[in-house]
Amino acid sequence: MKRVILNSGGIDSLALAIKCKDDELHSLHVHIGVPSSDAQAEAAEKIANEFCASHKVIEVHGLLTPPPEGGPLKPLSYNTPTLAMLGSSYAMIMGIVSVISGNRNERVNKDFEKYFTRMLQTHVRDERVYSRPLGSLKLEDVYQIVKEHPLFPQTVSCLSYPPCGTCPKCQIRKNYGIDV
Ligand SMILES: [Zn+2]
Repeated sequence: MKRVILNSGGIDSLALAIKCKDDELHSLHVHIGVPSSDAQAEAAEKIANEFCASHKVIEVHGLLTPPPEGGPLKPLSYNTPTLAMLGSSYAMIMGIVSVISGNRNERVNKDFEKYFTRMLQTHVRDERVYSRPLGSLKLEDVYQIVKEHPLFPQTVSCLSYPPCGTCPKCQIRKNYGIDV
């Protein structure tokens, strides 16, 4: 099965690549222009080199902006559908039916959802176009998938740079003695 994998370079993307390694994966990395983006792009390329038949990087800046009061970046409600849309568009260009995301929690704003629900639920040739094979796994479960893999310490999940050290993804790395 050919699949486009939304590859952020983070721990979830590595877990997803490991889980779907028997498929023909085509990596799409969206460089979103946040402080950690260059580090994430580098990590995404390493994941692609190991697991994917091809790797494409596109730049879409301004999706995420730091809160005016400062502090860590948080994924916004339109992050998920926007990435799904970009992935689906790229898959269409590649003649691929399936787009997979390591996203474990859909954060979809209700208004945005109206417009994207149909696309997110579209089936083509019995395959749901956009799917999340990690389902609603807890971060701890994701850690169990990636912990033995040599690329795990090189993944970049925090949106801040240098990493904030306090978000859940920084915390789990600290808990297991991996550099944040
Ligand atoms: Zn962090």
